[in-house]
Amino acid sequence: MEINSSFLNRVYNSDFLAPDINGKYVIYWMNKSLRYNYNFALKTAIYSANQNDLPLLSIYFITPFFKSLQLRQQIFIMQGLLELQKIFIKNNLTLLIMDWNKINLQRVCKKASLVVTEFPYLKENKNILNEFMKSTKLTPVLVDSETAIPWFIASQKEEYSAATLRRKITKYLPEYLLVDKKFELNYKNYDFSPFIKDQFNLIKYHNECIENINLSEPYYMHSFTGGYSQAISRLHLFIEKKIDRYAELRNDPSLEFSSDLSPYLRCGMISPVEIAIRISEMKETNHDKFLDELIIRRELSINFVIYNNQYNSVKCLPTWAYKTLHENIIFNRDYVYSLSQFESAATHDVYWNTAQNEMKKTGKMQAYMRMYWGKKIIEWTETPEKAFSFMVYLNNKYSLDGNDPNSYAGIAWCFGKHDRAFKERKVFGKIRYMNDKGLKRKFDIDQYVKKIQFL
Ligand SMILES: Cc1cc2nc3c(=O)[nH]c(=O)nc-3n(C[C@H](O)[C@H](O)[C@H](O)COP(=O)(O)OP(=O)(O)OC[C@H]3O[C@@H](n4cnc5c(N)ncnc54)[C@H](O)[C@@H]3O)c2cc1C
Repeated sequence: MEINSSFLNRVYNSDFLAPDINGKYVIYWMNKSLRYNYNFALKTAIYSANQNDLPLLSIYFITPFFKSLQLRQQIFIMQGLLELQKIFIKNNLTLLIMDWNKINLQRVCKKASLVVTEFPYLKENKNILNEFMKSTKLTPVLVDSETAIPWFIASQKEEYSAATLRRKITKYLPEYLLVDKKFELNYKNYDFSPFIKDQFNLIKYHNECIENINLSEPYYMHSFTGGYSQAISRLHLFIEKKIDRYAELRNDPSLEFSSDLSPYLRCGMISPVEIAIRISEMKETNHDKFLDELIIRRELSINFVIYNNQYNSVKCLPTWAYKTLHENIIFNRDYVYSLSQFESAATHDVYWNTAQNEMKKTGKMQAYMRMYWGKKIIEWTETPEKAFSFMVYLNNKYSLDGNDPNSYAGIAWCFGKHDRAFKERKVFGKIRYMNDKGLKRKFDIDQYVKKIQFL
């Protein structure tokens, strides 16, 4: 069968694609792309296995970082994994879940001819990759599986704004937005049983987690279930009921016109390429705004965390924003709150508290309120440094789509990153300001408050 091997353009370090000829199998280390469809790292691994007539072992590691997540974030990921294991079996593939702290990596990798994994964007993913390389002395093939256009093709430097990245990316879209053509693993029935017995008992751990939560809490009644099939259902709902009015209404917190796909994108449960292709097939709809958010804005965030090593602190800001914020630090602010006051939604501002409660109750905050939420934390915290760290802590702790390049780019945007300068004012200096008058003028904001209160 002839194979369209365009996915190989997504391999970052193709020099390492050559397998060890003495190896007995290829390993796919599933790290970021928790899916079967449009999984370019998995495709690369199957392709390499077929080229060398080798079997394939796919592994997902339960890392210390995974265990540090909130139970609901862990459950969301496990729901996706449990579904995925069945999909792998249907496609004659073996997906093992292993405990990072217990696995003997040398033993598993000793006979590997090649390891393929996704390119790590964030420091926590880079750290685990470094640990892997230290203990196995293997350099995995790194595939940029989570973008529409691989970040290293899109741009070779940190981009200034969405406009500068858009100019670079658009020309590549026809070449990279291609329908996924499946191809099977040739070598089946290899005996991986020596490793199967070391598997992490995902079902048991999942059930223990469920026992430790209160299913009547608003979160478990109103939030998201993990997995590819759930992502596809949300996408269908979005296409059927929302996309036509997305550009006009997505910002309104009292309505629900966004796709709610971010938790699934965050966990790689659906590919942006699949979303973009399915949306583009809708000939009658105006999907430009949505695709701009999905591809340009999202990949601007990836460009940001790749090229800006300080992405998780105010040191990431452009000089003008850093300077103006520090020139405008004032000591007699109208309101100053501690992290625990923010966390328990105990400010004087009902709209801010509602946004914080929305995130806690549902695992996601509405997009426009996220901007307001961030701007107000800057206003009510003594220093930009403290405000940035509070935002990272709260966003990543409570959001199902947290700990993502978008989390850091979204937070940095509140501080002026990827934005322009405005007229100078108290506390904010030249960075964009937002207030509740804007919320009242633009939206039925009290309807939003009621909606969240009743959850
Ligand atoms: C302070 C702050 C924190 C944020 N934290 C996160 C976060 O932790 N995780 C996260 O995914 N997004 C974050 N964002 C960006 C944005 O708010 C969310 O991506 C969006 O609300 C997700 O909802 P949705 O999937 O319904 O979006 P839709 O409007 O349906 O958009 C579809 C997809 O496009 C991408 N997208 C949309 N808007 C943006 C944007 N402004 N920047 C980058 N990508 C975008 C997302 O992947 C999103 O899922 C944050 C923004 C701010 C201001």
